[in-house]
Amino acid sequence: MLFNWLKDRRRSKLAAETFPAAWLQIVHHNCRHFATLDSAEQSRLLRDIRWFLDEKSIETAIGLKLTDEMRVTVAAHASLLGLGFDGPPFDRLRSVIIRADSYLGTQIQRGSSGLELHSETARIGETTRNGPVLLSWRDVEQQCRDAPYGRNVILHEFAHLLDMVDGDVDGVPPLQNEEQYKTWKDVTRIEYHRLVNEAQFGIPSLLDWYGATNEAEFFAVATESFFEQPTEMRKRHPRLYDVLRIFYKQDPANRWMRNVA
Ligand SMILES: [Zn+2]
Repeated sequence: MLFNWLKDRRRSKLAAETFPAAWLQIVHHNCRHFATLDSAEQSRLLRDIRWFLDEKSIETAIGLKLTDEMRVTVAAHASLLGLGFDGPPFDRLRSVIIRADSYLGTQIQRGSSGLELHSETARIGETTRNGPVLLSWRDVEQQCRDAPYGRNVILHEFAHLLDMVDGDVDGVPPLQNEEQYKTWKDVTRIEYHRLVNEAQFGIPSLLDWYGATNEAEFFAVATESFFEQPTEMRKRHPRLYDVLRIFYKQDPANRWMRNVA
């Protein structure tokens, strides 16, 4: 109770402060979504970035110097994901760790005989329940700034956190009512199997084939496309776009079109 009161007081104080000009420059430079937001949404995003940076610990792996560019870029994309919700949705997250580059992680697969197969795979990000979230800065930089191509590891990892809010990592985040759950399951089942088929037979797809790994990865990959390629996604996967629009309470395709017009 006291903790909440202190937190609210601190948040009010931060919300009243001017957003640092150097940080605003980073947001403009590294988060191209910012220009598509209306002024109320921009103010909300900047407020949420401040709160995120105040409440979460962002660290770097040994040998990498932490910069404001790293901190603000991560906070901006995490806050973008929660823009449609009543408040920032990552209350339980404590820390984010940034690594210089991709890294090897052990993947464990259990075969039908019960035998475990361990393999080393390259990773650019990772999430555990309540964090920390791990991110490769080289990939964040490329995707957010240098060469946008529809992928965004920050959005991907934070989507996993939203999926985990209800306890299960199953590609179904907490929804409002039974009707929404039913529509979500109907739509994502069809779309997931479509992607599995495309990945299996090497058919080009808008969604990254990595989403065919399982339903949880499908949700994280679909989230990336929803924000990064919204007009394409609305055209090629209208029903999937729609369930994500209802969940995120945001319409990025509309924002991009409004901006282009
Ligand atoms: Zn993932």
